[in-house]
Formats: sequence, C-alpha cells, structure tokens
Amino acid sequence: MSEGQMKGVCPICGSEMTLRFVPYEVSYFGEVMIFNAVCGCGYKTTDVMILSKRRNKRYEVEVASEEDLSARVVRSQYGRIEIPELGVVVEPKKGEAFISNVEGVLQRVESVLKLLERDANEEQKAKIAELFRKINEIKAGRRRMRLIIEDPTGNSAIISERANVE
Ligand SMILES: [Zn+2]
Repeated sequence: MSEGQMKGVCPICGSEMTLRFVPYEVSYFGEVMIFNAVCGCGYKTTDVMILSKRRNKRYEVEVASEEDLSARVVRSQYGRIEIPELGVVVEPKKGEAFISNVEGVLQRVESVLKLLERDANEEQKAKIAELFRKINEIKAGRRRMRLIIEDPTGNSAIISERANVE
C-alpha cells in the first residue's frame, strides 16, 4: 500500500481533520501502516496496523542478551504490554502506538518512571531507584525479563525468533 491521507472527524471537538497514513517496512516481518492525525483542538492520535498475514494475538519473549534488546516491537493502541519482572503493565489505549525495539520499550518505561519520581515520597523514590537499577542490569545483559504483548486485533508483535507466539 502507498502513502496517503483521508478526511476524518475529531472525536473530541467534531471538527474535520486529516488522517495521514504511511507504510513502513519492518525487516523480516512485513509491512506496517502507521496512522497519524492531529486536530487544531489539541487532539492527536497515532496507531499502527500490521498488513502482513502474520497476525497473532500474543507474543512473549525472554530478554536475556543485547540481541534480544534489539528485537523489533510493534504496538497498536489495542496492545497490552506486560513486563512481570518490573511490575510494568501498560493497558490497551494507554500510551501511544509505536514501532520500536525492546530497548525502546525500556526507555519508555524509564521516561514514565522519571515523571513519577518528581512527586514521589521517599519510599516510592527507593522503589523507583530499584527499578532503574534493574533496567540497567537488563540493558547490560546481567538480568533477564519477559516482555509480553497481547493484542486481540493482531496488530501488535514482537519480531524475534525466540518469541513464543500464539
Ligand atoms: Zn478536535
């Protein structure tokens, strides 16, 4: 499919807005369409749709090496992300849709932790510091974690030979 745009209606203010879509080729996987819309009222949305036939509802990968950190991750708005070892859960429709890799997912977790840290009390700050320490160990390949993505629409994926796919 090729790049294009279409008219839509803003779900917040009802104005007409332009929805843009751009195809993106993910290596060893296939084409993913990225959708983007911005309205004058401040509303914006991003989503992704997997165009290849490989659409599955659940991916789980154990991250144990630097190679695992570079595995590509596609998350649609309907994807639920879980990292049990860090107590992280991102529910569907929370946060943005993205195409990134496992390390990018960890960077997103770190940015959220930095925001939470600002208003945290001493006890919460200690917990956050512990999570930062764990994330650094994971990035250095000294600690393992699982990354699980569930998406009933089949538009999310973890692209790794080591991923368990359902
Ligand atoms: Zn609007």
